[in-house]
Amino acid sequence: TNQMEPPRIHRLDQTVVNRIAAGEVVQRPVSAVKELVENSLDADSTSISVVVKDGGLKLIQVSDDGHGIPYEDLPILCERHTTSKLSKFEDLQSVKSMGFRGEALASMTYVGHVTVTTITKGQLHGYRATYRDGIMEHEPKACAAVKGTQIMIENLFYNMTARRKTLQNSADDYPKIADLICRFAIHHSSVSFSCRKHGAARPDVHSVVTSSRLDAIRSVYGVSVARNLIKIDASDSDSSNSVFSMDGFISNSNYIAKKTIMVLFINDRLVECGALKRAIEIVYTATLPKASKPFIYMSIKLPTEHVDVNIHPTKREVSLLNQEVIIETIQSAIESKLRNSNESRTFHEQT
Ligand code: ADP
Ligand code: MG
Repeated sequence: TNQMEPPRIHRLDQTVVNRIAAGEVVQRPVSAVKELVENSLDADSTSISVVVKDGGLKLIQVSDDGHGIPYEDLPILCERHTTSKLSKFEDLQSVKSMGFRGEALASMTYVGHVTVTTITKGQLHGYRATYRDGIMEHEPKACAAVKGTQIMIENLFYNMTARRKTLQNSADDYPKIADLICRFAIHHSSVSFSCRKHGAARPDVHSVVTSSRLDAIRSVYGVSVARNLIKIDASDSDSSNSVFSMDGFISNSNYIAKKTIMVLFINDRLVECGALKRAIEIVYTATLPKASKPFIYMSIKLPTEHVDVNIHPTKREVSLLNQEVIIETIQSAIESKLRNSNESRTFHEQT
């Protein structure tokens, strides 16, 4: 009998490996924007602006006024696993920056054309460099620059035909990108954000620096949201060492919406937590007669060792140590706030 020869195993070309990995890190235009904005925040920027063309497939441009990138580091800037934020594995325990794995910029060069313009403090001019497949294409060119860094991604997924087609056939990512910037803007209220389509005269999102969280919410989500919010906070004060604290704003009984908006930051990272969101929706349905879907902005602080940040970059969903206890504490805090506000309203209407 002529048995079939088993297929032979060979090593994949490094560029192929990197492109596959890059396609996982940068899943769609909005994921690239998130990485770029987080880099700008990590660089201590006070102003971040985003410009998008063709839903991000033609152009994504993020400009900031942060500390910039040293000239000497430009050659390795977009190589895989190059970072200024982490040196040894133990640092992961205490890492405060949003990035640390040095994969985002590299990934973008494998699935798009990347141009970086940057200037550091005390320099008379900036530098511009372009990158492909992790490599700087030529010596950085001197150029005019004001402060900070501008990163431009052109022709995202130019070499991934299937991905490009799928994205072109679905609704474009611009609304998702604008929504992302709104979320960052209300948490980082000391940073001014803007987001607009390329060629548009006015930005669709524009936040001003403010010390009031409520003002920040008003400036991006509008008066109709801001006037129907209640301040909320909670912590586990029972134990001598506080392990958890939460503060934020939740919508009251006058607020009406078809979809829940939940803006959640855990240790200043923008994340999603389906279990917490559902738990809060349950409280609203049970407490308010005309159950509207809520608006929630919530910032949770936990000891760093209670949150594992070393999950895949695209996994925004987190699970926490003692998640059930935390969720119950938040549920009861929300329930009592809602009851109070609803009762005072009923009282007000009767008199
Ligand atoms: P990570 O953020 O995980 O370190 P990235 O690939 O996102 O990896 O970025 C690589 C490095 O490039 C960062 O560690 C940082 O030093 C530098 N960098 C990227 N974007 C900026 C920026 N906007 N301003 C200053 N430095 C930046
Ligand atoms: Mg990063």
